[in-house]
Amino acid sequence: MISKTDAAMYIALSAAARSKDARRQVGAVLLSDDFIIGIGYNGTPRGVDDKTFTWPKSGVPLYDTKHPYVIHAEENALENARKRGFQDSIKGSTLILPYRPCPSCSKQLHQANIGHLVYLLDYSKQDDLIISKRLLEEWGGVSSEKVSLNTSSLRTILESMAGSSLDLATIFVDYDLNKSRSDYISFEQFFSAHVGFHSAVDSIDNSIICVNEENRVMEELLDSQLPSRFHPHSFAFAAFYPSGDQIDALRKKGVYQLNIIRENHATEEMYKDMKITSFSSERNQKNMSALANNLNRIIHSYTSQYL
Ligand SMILES: [Zn+2]
Repeated sequence: MISKTDAAMYIALSAAARSKDARRQVGAVLLSDDFIIGIGYNGTPRGVDDKTFTWPKSGVPLYDTKHPYVIHAEENALENARKRGFQDSIKGSTLILPYRPCPSCSKQLHQANIGHLVYLLDYSKQDDLIISKRLLEEWGGVSSEKVSLNTSSLRTILESMAGSSLDLATIFVDYDLNKSRSDYISFEQFFSAHVGFHSAVDSIDNSIICVNEENRVMEELLDSQLPSRFHPHSFAFAAFYPSGDQIDALRKKGVYQLNIIRENHATEEMYKDMKITSFSSERNQKNMSALANNLNRIIHSYTSQYL
């Protein structure tokens, strides 16, 4: 139904919807051989609560603005890939995100040897644009594609994930740019989006992700070679009820808690030792409505269109 690149861009935009930055929400996805190896959004440093952090942009001394502290989506995606054990796959990987990386992130991406860049918008500051292009395309040998977002099937995908039609708001509140925002999606909503968009790629009929206790996605589709130390006490999200083989793979990984976002036929017997939350419920509709409304706002901020 959608391309892998589109799915990754929607996952990046869903990650952006986790950001508490009242001015700009950015999300980034790192792909290696079509697998997501890293995901990030702009946020606060470790140990600093992004919900209570104040985010002033200017009007106060530099050390009281957000600038010296905020970790950008690209930096978090690189860090996420390294923590997940994919440091060897970063070289040559594809970065997908709504904004061209800033000069500082371009420097880190250059050093990390990424191979390809897919983005929606260029930086409006000419200096930043030149620096980023030098570091990535010119000196880094990075190939780049500025793409436009085709959202024609997005509403259908979201509605199939929600199991009902969506009520989308097009009037958005003004934000206090010095405060964190309150309209962001939960981890649960983000993980649902992740498997929902992934399974909307026509070659993938089910998408399963394992998530650890730190809310970090550890693997997709159960076929990575990550050692089992990455899995204890983790839970999983799946687009559909997993097959017998997939359930066995989950059990082997020590996963006994599973969230399903779309209803399909299932043999109860197969899942009896699993704690299953089926999302074909009011809760799922609420989750998906919140996601859709947040995506609508983010898509508007990058394309001036609504979904
Ligand atoms: Zn940056």
